[in-house]
Amino acid sequence: MKYPQGGSFSKGELQRFGNIELSPSAGVLNYGQGLFEGLKAYRKQDGNILLFRPEENAERMRMGAERMCMPSPTVEQFVEAVKATVLANKRWVPPPGKGSLYIRPLLMGSGAVLGLAPAPEYTFLIYVSPVGNYFKEGVAPINLVIERDLHRATPGGTGGVKTIGNYAAVLKAQSVAKAKGFSDVLYLDCVHKKYLEEVSSCNIFIVKDNVISTPAIKGTILPGITRKSIIDVARSEGFQVEERLVSVDELLNADEVFCTGTAVVVSPVGSVTYLDKRVSYGGSGFGAVAQQLYEVLTRLQMGLIEDKMNWTVELR
Ligand code: PMP
Repeated sequence: MKYPQGGSFSKGELQRFGNIELSPSAGVLNYGQGLFEGLKAYRKQDGNILLFRPEENAERMRMGAERMCMPSPTVEQFVEAVKATVLANKRWVPPPGKGSLYIRPLLMGSGAVLGLAPAPEYTFLIYVSPVGNYFKEGVAPINLVIERDLHRATPGGTGGVKTIGNYAAVLKAQSVAKAKGFSDVLYLDCVHKKYLEEVSSCNIFIVKDNVISTPAIKGTILPGITRKSIIDVARSEGFQVEERLVSVDELLNADEVFCTGTAVVVSPVGSVTYLDKRVSYGGSGFGAVAQQLYEVLTRLQMGLIEDKMNWTVELR
């Protein structure tokens, strides 16, 4: 879908996956004017396909576009485009229990601009790919390392929206961590270097005495749709959930730690390393709380239990 200067998003069309043409002075290439989203389609037992809360992704892209001085497709345009793309790629949605189809909507300043300014034209596109587990550990616990010096987001910056530059900012810390054998990096707030923010591509939760806590959203943390869903699922399962400042000390003394995200779903954290000290949580699998929440969320996403929240959208 194209957005010409002063216009609105066109209806869009389906195209075979392939390279796209961009001016060397496209806004996205020069000034990072780009946003993306990530959501998944699951195959149900009856062969139909379920999307999980696509309007939430549409709304997050709309908010991000505002921050990045970009126009965005309407929620309806976004959801219809996702549906059309998934239906055109139905055969790539894996069978039940064998993974999912990852859907990547992308919005960018595709118009040419030389002096620093918002691009004059925009392109919205969606591509898809079948995926399995995000971490090589599968659903086994992941090992995080806390990064103190490199930050993914600063107050007043763009950490709270899904802009491409946030991901460029984490590549260095993530590469170093992976080379040392860690699964991913956990970032702290850059002012006090004391409070948890999030992991490169997912949100974080701790459990202490059966109370679940997660850092409150405050501009430097991406408002994860899985995070929001897990909070609702946990409350409906009878857990107390707190959204607040969560300190490193609390993390290191937690009973259980887990991450949430579209790609990682709910991933148990097996250990956290901080200033060369490694703290381990539980055994070789899920903690009891993360396991319970994982079961409810994934059953809902796969259409195995009744969707009382009305979160899934069925495609035929
Ligand atoms: N934080 C970051 C930085 C992410 O990239 C993601 C993945 N989108 C998340 C959190 C989790 O968000 P969601 O649950 O919407 O996938």
